[in-house]
Amino acid sequence: DTVRQVTVLGATGSIGRSTLDVIARHPRDYRVFALTGHSRLAELERLCLEHRPRFAVVPETVAARTLQGSLRAAGLATRVLAGEGGLCEVAAHPEVDAVMAAIVGAAGLGPTLAAVRAGKRVLLANKEALVMSGALFMQAVQEHGAQLLPIDSEHNAIFQCMPGDYGRGLAPVGVRRILLTASGGPFRCWPLERIAEATPQQACSHPNWAMGRKISVDSASMMNKGLELIEACWLFDARPAQVEVVIHPQSVIHSLVDYVDGSVLAQLGNPDMRTPIAHALAWPRRIDSGVAPLDLFAIARLDFEAPDVRRFPCLQLARQAAEAGGTLPALLNAANEVAVAAFLDERIRFPDIACMIEAVLNALPGEPVDQLERVFAADRQARDVAQAWLQRFGR
Ligand code: NDP
Ligand code: MG
Repeated sequence: DTVRQVTVLGATGSIGRSTLDVIARHPRDYRVFALTGHSRLAELERLCLEHRPRFAVVPETVAARTLQGSLRAAGLATRVLAGEGGLCEVAAHPEVDAVMAAIVGAAGLGPTLAAVRAGKRVLLANKEALVMSGALFMQAVQEHGAQLLPIDSEHNAIFQCMPGDYGRGLAPVGVRRILLTASGGPFRCWPLERIAEATPQQACSHPNWAMGRKISVDSASMMNKGLELIEACWLFDARPAQVEVVIHPQSVIHSLVDYVDGSVLAQLGNPDMRTPIAHALAWPRRIDSGVAPLDLFAIARLDFEAPDVRRFPCLQLARQAAEAGGTLPALLNAANEVAVAAFLDERIRFPDIACMIEAVLNALPGEPVDQLERVFAADRQARDVAQAWLQRFGR
């Protein structure tokens, strides 16, 4: 079970950097096998010089040659690969023990599945991959004996609150409900009229977490919680109705599990992704993550509120997609990715994110998912419909 060689997909991102921070605290236990980046290639080069991986992966061959040249000049033996083929190669390489799946969005599905099919320990941050391919993803985990450990703080918390042997394939016996906590995001207290005028910068200023821009916008719209609801159903074999969203502005309780005997278990911690990363990397052991001890006296109180679906309609759209199943979560996710990018480009207003997703879901019928090709087709169709909507209603 012990992990040594780690591939970090999405190393240049927020989760990628936190992962490398945890790994660097334990140089005798963990080695960086491969690092991947997409647009921030100067940052990738810097990370390669620091962590000296066996492989690096960039989007295309010209960039690969450039990076290969500078790494060789610096005396590194790192081999630079290109494209999705390169990502899948470093995810499935026989010498790799664990793969941090931290590419954002649908682009991460192929490489994450490659790690699953190679039977790796998969540290799953890329929730979109699981949301899109749900049943097929979980089947592949079973078939190939992969070890799936959630990095999303809520799901990592739920995992920790599940019965002791849960990660070893035991069914979650006696679980009544999953209480999925949400910070409520930067617009939690904003009235609808003010949310309508929100700027990308306001949406990306999360009160408790510093994250990539896409998940920050998802957090502001609460689509993040919607995607997490779907993610929780797959990871913990729960029905959507068993997952309740609870707004908890302090982000200290990362989620709770409610058992039939009335026991409710929670996992608490400072809001710092290095805690779930260290947990998943070392599980079932515990290692230092660099996160400061929790100071309950400084926190003083923990608050809870019900979510407001009128101001945050994305939550409801996601719950409906979770209940409908089939390709609906993939359609929802793709429409959301296009909508978030359009909002960040200032082509649509914040409330249009939900309008666009709803339009896509109304335009495309859901279908059962029997093979991965159906998922990719649904993803493409939803992007096409969303782009058409954008042509019509966007700036
Ligand atoms: P970032 O935007 O900070 O990082 C995304 C990473 O993916 C970067 O390394 C980026 O490369 C790479 N990337 C982007 N597009 C592509 C592509 N088309 N092909 C290959 N690589 C690509 O995001 P986060 O680190 O915040 O989030 C990563 C994932 O983790 C998301 O799925 C998110 O939902 C999830 N997550 C994040 C949390 C957080 O606290 N940040 C918490 C829970 C989940 P480059 O930067 O070089 O362009
Ligand atoms: Mg989360």
